[in-house]
Amino acid sequence: MQPVHRPTAAPDRTDGRAVILGAGLAGLLAAAALAPRYDVTLIERDELPAEPDHRRGLPQGHHAHVLMSSGARIVDELLPGTTDAWIAAGAHRLGLPHGYVMLLPQGWLPRRPTGEYVISCSRALLDHVVRQRVLALPHVRLLDGTTAQGLIGDARRVTGVRTRETVLTCDLVVDATGRGSRLTHWLSELGVPEVTQQVVDSGLRYATRLFRAPAGDFPIVNIQADPARDRPGQTAALMPIEDGRWLVTLSGTRGGEPPAGEDEFVGFARAMRHPIVGDLIADAEPLGPVRVTNTTANRRRRYDRVRHWPDGLVALGDAVAAYNPVYGHGMSIAAKQALILRDRADQADRMDLGDRVDQAAITAAAAEGWGHAAGSDVRFPGVRGAVPSRADRLIWRYQHRLFRTALDRPGVAADLVRVFSLNAPPTRLFHPRTLLATARGPRTVPSAEPPFTDAERAVAALR
Ligand SMILES: Cc1cc2nc3c(=O)[nH]c(=O)nc-3n(C[C@H](O)[C@H](O)[C@H](O)COP(=O)(O)OP(=O)(O)OC[C@H]3O[C@@H](n4cnc5c(N)ncnc54)[C@H](O)[C@@H]3O)c2cc1C
Repeated sequence: MQPVHRPTAAPDRTDGRAVILGAGLAGLLAAAALAPRYDVTLIERDELPAEPDHRRGLPQGHHAHVLMSSGARIVDELLPGTTDAWIAAGAHRLGLPHGYVMLLPQGWLPRRPTGEYVISCSRALLDHVVRQRVLALPHVRLLDGTTAQGLIGDARRVTGVRTRETVLTCDLVVDATGRGSRLTHWLSELGVPEVTQQVVDSGLRYATRLFRAPAGDFPIVNIQADPARDRPGQTAALMPIEDGRWLVTLSGTRGGEPPAGEDEFVGFARAMRHPIVGDLIADAEPLGPVRVTNTTANRRRRYDRVRHWPDGLVALGDAVAAYNPVYGHGMSIAAKQALILRDRADQADRMDLGDRVDQAAITAAAAEGWGHAAGSDVRFPGVRGAVPSRADRLIWRYQHRLFRTALDRPGVAADLVRVFSLNAPPTRLFHPRTLLATARGPRTVPSAEPPFTDAERAVAALR
């Protein structure tokens, strides 16, 4: 793996200087957001690969990562042309839900276009394309192979960052070091009182394997968990990715976890609510080992509750809140937070970004993902950190009928898709039109079989 070689000369502008910790997606998008106004230095612990490749600091990169249209549109706004570059590099842009064969708890979702979509490719490719574009921006430099070890300043103002080798002073520090962020510890070193953390843990495990895909266009196949069954939630997802591969991720919550063994992978997929994913890969050629992760709990740090947030500091992405990944929201929330950063920097030409109000706005954006993920996980047996309320149970009953109605009322399906792809707020599901359609309920019996087209059946040699 070749490291990226970057010029390490100091930035040459005299205006604000920002140091971003972590060059994952949140850090890269924060760099794109700040580059018009700040001289940006990205500090990344890994030596970053020059080609799309896995790296140690991004262990989740082996597993299925879809980018929702809500996030992709923001990436294009911050870095114009990125979606085209992803597709040119082999990513698929698949309609949501017409590029999907998706089993909801209530049945197969009909494949009608809604205008929404996902980007389907490896995480390595997704990041590589963004990284190339960010590092080509003027006023952005990268110090890779460099680990941030703490902040400098005091409880009122952060004035820089400590690495093993040096101290970097700046006007703004951005923590984008992901789920394992040490920021709460670093803040306590500066004298900031302890930050509250919330964890809701369904005990979810992911197991992922790559397969050679047959030639031809194919949808994402997604078997969702049925939380009403009072059993561990289990899911299977098959994603077409670049270079003619299928990336297959199986998951299970506590008590229903997928095995790590290669011999059991197909059998576990076949034992889902529908065996289609197992059937599709039964004779496919595996292209690597089964990779497993248990690092999936919902975890958020309540920076919005810190009364005296030091100036000159913001945190975003997984460093603020990380979610159960089956909902596919983390990267899109990080994109939304980067956009907030840009918009707040634009306000009145501010060069003093990074106060309590900025951080509260960024943390508030995380609440959307938290509501979807932690709010749903509370339904699974053995979940730790939350208990369902009576209001939750009422909402679940409504949700069940709404999902069932979505199977044959296109307007309700479109609302559902927009909310779960973070293109509309959850309140959209309580719009009078949606409430009325849901009260009327479904008119037909859903299809018992996955809605593949004839062409897709031919691609996968399905009968
Ligand atoms: C199994 C799994 C599957 C997922 N699937 C999806 C999905 O389908 N869709 C979706 O939107 N999201 C998904 N997510 C969430 C997604 O991975 C994260 O939301 C996203 O990576 C957040 O980006 P980030 O930049 O905040 O953190 P990260 O991507 O984790 O990046 C953090 C970076 O900081 C660096 N770093 C850490 N510590 C230091 C330090 N001290 N100094 C310097 N650098 C440091 C790391 O090396 C890394 O590069 C999934 C997550 C998991 C675990």
